[in-house]
Amino acid sequence: MNQAETATIAGSFIAAGCTVVPPDHDCDICVVHSCAVTAHAEASSIRYARWFKRRHPEVMVILAGCVATPGIVPATALHGIDHVVPQPDKFRIPELLGMASGQTDRAAPVFFTTRALLPVQDGCAFRCAYCIVPTTRGAPRSRPMPQLLAEARHLVHQGFKEIVITGTNVGTYRDEHHTLIDLLMVLDDLPGIERIRISSIELSTVEKPLIEWMSRSDHACRYIHLPLQSGDNRMLARMRRRYTVEQYRAIAETALSAIPGLGLGTDLITGFPGEDEVAFQATCGLIDALPFSNLHVFPFSQRPGTVAGDLDNRVPQATIRDRTRHLIECGQTKRNTFAHQHVGQCLPVLIESVDTVPDTSEGWTDTYLPVKVHGKGLSRNQIVKTCIDQWDGNHLLGHP
Ligand code: SF4
Repeated sequence: MNQAETATIAGSFIAAGCTVVPPDHDCDICVVHSCAVTAHAEASSIRYARWFKRRHPEVMVILAGCVATPGIVPATALHGIDHVVPQPDKFRIPELLGMASGQTDRAAPVFFTTRALLPVQDGCAFRCAYCIVPTTRGAPRSRPMPQLLAEARHLVHQGFKEIVITGTNVGTYRDEHHTLIDLLMVLDDLPGIERIRISSIELSTVEKPLIEWMSRSDHACRYIHLPLQSGDNRMLARMRRRYTVEQYRAIAETALSAIPGLGLGTDLITGFPGEDEVAFQATCGLIDALPFSNLHVFPFSQRPGTVAGDLDNRVPQATIRDRTRHLIECGQTKRNTFAHQHVGQCLPVLIESVDTVPDTSEGWTDTYLPVKVHGKGLSRNQIVKTCIDQWDGNHLLGHP
């Protein structure tokens, strides 16, 4: 979500006549688009902004985004940063600086990747016990469908082949009576679109119709990310998640049988307060039972301002570290198994960078695996049918 919004912030500066450069280039203004999802992410955002200002005192440093939400961090923590721009104002920074007249429309996003992100909504009202997002981003708001279609058309016209649907909680998308599925069906018919990827979908939203749409669509990427967090019902209730282990498993199995070759990703939290050995083993059991291709494992860290910040029954740090390491290892084993199933197949790969080493390009399958394609004359942003020869533990290796 932050990446998608960063592209819109970049677009607002370009619309104001500026040039946007990568982080390691000289600049006059540096915008740090911050993240507060964990205490660690929050501290990193602030540390980077303050470090940048100390190192380049002549540059105007602006901290925007979640960390800039009033009340999230004390003002003293932001000392030295030139401007702090909270969420509602971050898409009109040039206007606030007097560099552009009143911007009425959201600027067209500018991406430096081959995949374009389409943020369809912002905010969340689910209030999971560990999550600060409902505080930093507020209640859910969806963008109007006509605006999204215009943006998607613009992206396709610019040559983007893959559009990634993002949001804070995309399954809650609503524009009057239209749901996320209505939006996807219209995007599916957009001339020139080649791939539509869904970033992540929460259970208890529109996961069932989404799976049906994915199984019918010619453009849906065969990858679904269903955040799990824990494989133990007591922990899910303590986390204030809206599903049980049984419901999660049923949805995952429905998706896997409806969409052949599907990549299945998830998020897990280790060491949430109250996670005893029984609960952790239940998580391991569920991970073992389902053919995940991608595990994001997050060690629990206390986040002030969340319900979990005050929960008792803390798990010792050493135990959290061990559990995290164990799940990461399980994730790699499962990823290897999934990736090996691609060997011998010929699959479309979207090329992201060319000649990373001579005559080798890198890209992604629709199942969300990275591929090194050995061959001459490939171009960035080209979809190349690639015959997969092997998996080296990090990449599929193949040739056109
Ligand atoms: S669904 Fe839960 S974890 Fe996701 S943004 Fe909303 S509150 Fe946070």
